[in-house]
Amino acid sequence: MIAKVIVDVPSRATDRPFDYAIPADLYGWVEIGSRVGVPFGGRVLQGFVIGLAEFADIDESKLKPIAELLDHIPPLSPDLVELAQWISDKYCCALTTALQAMIPSALKGKADSVVTLSEDEDTALFSNAVYSEAPWLAYIRASSGPVRMAALQERFPADAAAIKQAVKLGALTEQVSIRDRLAVRKALTVFPPEQAALAQEALANYPARAAKQRDVLRYMLEHPEPIALTALVEALSTTSATIRAVADKGWITIREVEQQRDPYAGRDFKQTEPLPLTEGQQAVYEEIAEALDAESSRVFLLHGVTGSGKTEVYLQTIERCLQHERQAIVLVPEIALTPQMVERFKGRFGDSVAVLHSRLSSGERYDEWRKIREGRAQVAVGARSAVFAPFPRVGLIIIDEEHESSYKQEESPKYHARDVAVRRARQHGASVVLGSATPSLESYAAASRVLSPTQTDASASSRTPGGAALLAMPNRVGNRPLPKVHLIDMREELKAGNRSMFSRQLHEALLDRLEKGEQSVLLLNRRGYSTFVMCRSCGYTAQCPHCDISLTYHQKSRVMRCHYCGHAEQAPEKCPSCESEHIRFFGTGTQRVEEELAKLFPGIRVIRMDVDTTTEKGSHEKWLTMFGERKADVLLGTQMVAKGLDFPYVTLVGVIAADTSLHLPDFRAAEKTFQLLTQVAGRAGRHELPGEVVIQTYNPDHYAIVTAQHHDYAGFVQEELKHRRFMSYPPFCRLIVVTLSDEQLTHLITAGDKLAATLRQLAYESGVKGSIDSDGTRFIDILGPVASPIPRMKDRYRFQCMVKYRGNAGAIELLKKAIAMLSGPQGQPPVQLSVDVDPQVIL
Ligand code: ADP
Ligand code: ZN
Ligand code: ZN
Repeated sequence: MIAKVIVDVPSRATDRPFDYAIPADLYGWVEIGSRVGVPFGGRVLQGFVIGLAEFADIDESKLKPIAELLDHIPPLSPDLVELAQWISDKYCCALTTALQAMIPSALKGKADSVVTLSEDEDTALFSNAVYSEAPWLAYIRASSGPVRMAALQERFPADAAAIKQAVKLGALTEQVSIRDRLAVRKALTVFPPEQAALAQEALANYPARAAKQRDVLRYMLEHPEPIALTALVEALSTTSATIRAVADKGWITIREVEQQRDPYAGRDFKQTEPLPLTEGQQAVYEEIAEALDAESSRVFLLHGVTGSGKTEVYLQTIERCLQHERQAIVLVPEIALTPQMVERFKGRFGDSVAVLHSRLSSGERYDEWRKIREGRAQVAVGARSAVFAPFPRVGLIIIDEEHESSYKQEESPKYHARDVAVRRARQHGASVVLGSATPSLESYAAASRVLSPTQTDASASSRTPGGAALLAMPNRVGNRPLPKVHLIDMREELKAGNRSMFSRQLHEALLDRLEKGEQSVLLLNRRGYSTFVMCRSCGYTAQCPHCDISLTYHQKSRVMRCHYCGHAEQAPEKCPSCESEHIRFFGTGTQRVEEELAKLFPGIRVIRMDVDTTTEKGSHEKWLTMFGERKADVLLGTQMVAKGLDFPYVTLVGVIAADTSLHLPDFRAAEKTFQLLTQVAGRAGRHELPGEVVIQTYNPDHYAIVTAQHHDYAGFVQEELKHRRFMSYPPFCRLIVVTLSDEQLTHLITAGDKLAATLRQLAYESGVKGSIDSDGTRFIDILGPVASPIPRMKDRYRFQCMVKYRGNAGAIELLKKAIAMLSGPQGQPPVQLSVDVDPQVIL
């Protein structure tokens, strides 16, 4: 037998399967999705099996055997391997990069696993019945304690299938530990007396001088559940020696037990019952339920205003999905993955919810992932990569706040979770629900068919099989009004002599809330408000010596740091350029607002949430809990205060500067601004108390701001689509950005010109219309090369080419071909080259 293995070397030259012989003792153990160690170029590398074959493509005598099998149950299933293949094709990345993105980082080391017989009586009976004759079962019984899987595999090579089955059915409990990366956490655990009656008797006769020991025994009789030794010491204010003494007498037992790291352990999630749906929710629910019942793979765009009750719809559709014994995946943006959000799902589905996000330690994430793979979880809630949750039968994938750009991964594989979700759903006959109050133009155009087929990109319909359906919830629950939004023209404030960062109206509104004891949320649009060091005499600003961008100033440490390369230096006392002392450090925007608040409203209690105050693990959560308990008057922050928060006493939302994101060199600048304003405005007046929003701006006439003021999504879309069509941007076409970088400018220019010329030639030869004005259904247009918006990073110059295309233009294939033509015999490109398909951020 031959295994086709993708080795973990992310280069173009090695991006193909290599054949390896499967040694006889691994027959039946190696499957598609297995992680193996294979000899490669004199080393042993980790790799994934993506296919099995009877015959090798190369001379069999040259075939090397697989060196080792890293996990006994493959971390990936065949459908995930197929999905990885799709990602690698679509996003132009090495297959190994796509495969690696699907498994928890803890698994990038090496696994070592042991099994024990399950202690549960029913499963013991079951395994006796089913595997009674199996020699491996006898072997495990005979050995005292856990047996290494590797030993079983060595001894019973023919029983691979049965042993794996026993693990899956729970008759064997597998404990995996990863060498190097991660250790399974173990804790000493105290078990209650096995014979309660005898122990009761012993308790009555316990010698009086051993009162402490008696307390231990009494406690274990009254609470007959296993308890961690440390917890028992604490509960009884006793010592572990005392507890051990009781154990030595044989009344209780102490054993080492593997701990499942549960990041939410010890927290009570109040169980919630399904709410009776509103009419609007009911209509939406029924549409989705119908697709779930039919197991037809459909895509829904749920456009529901803030406070329309999208979450309840998610919860009840998940319930429906679980009734069909299928699993559900819920994606939420990383910064919206708050305990509040988790609580909504844990509150409804309890322990069957696994949570995956980057703030967990790698061990915690691994345990949550195993909970999914081993069938102990039916619902996964997580950020982007949770789309790869290893469920066997996915029935529903929900993407909340689908417009969020964080669903696009910025490093390779540069995938978009929305597109991957649609693809994965199709593999499983699952449905996808994209929810948002401000859907992305791409999703909206695909679902509402505002574009005729010739205008839109034909492959959009391949992303949305059967066409996406638009579902709308235009009203808030209980018909609560959307908050009133006031626009304040900050130029007028200046004219009236107000030089503060707060307009008079926002000032008054804040005062009013302080008097009433209500709460406010203040948003500082972070982008463009960054912190920098500037000389007031000569205008000098501190720049990174390796990258063409300003250094960011960190007040705490008085250090200036580069966001891109990490370069750091001490802030100067004097201007390095003119020696003036008038060099000013502008602290983070939020710090300045905080100082100003303290000055203007003495005694005001402010919680500041930004990158500086939320780096520590759990801090994000701590701040939100404090705010929820009304221990602060104002929650001040960047983008992270705009999403998903739901606090009943928030009646005022202020936006300090609405337009800092409006003028970024990004064709989505208006869309991002509209989304942000709408989201943050939606934080106000979600409960009994009515809400009010004050938006301060220098562009009160800009359509993105005016439509946000009137909660007018349709109006915004109409205006924005005009611009997009005129400039030929998505959704009227699709984009690929190729970034080339090199230390030598001349190399870069040559390579860039060559790439663009080759692409143009190939496009011409393929007969695709080249003109951007063409009204043909297929076009491809190659722009550049030009200097990237950040022209130098980490001492490398950067150029980019942009490919705009529409219809079945074969752009990705052309690009791959062009890159191959420019590359050397080993597939090495002439300069460093990175491809971003459907880019979200163009830098
Ligand atoms: P969205 O995510 O659409 O902004 P939420 O899901 O947060 O809105 O719901 C807004 C509020 O309405 C929440 O406090 C929620 O508990 C409440 N809610 C949702 N559905 C119902 C319902 N059917 N009946 C009563 N209250 C509801
Ligand atoms: Zn100066
Ligand atoms: Zn730098």
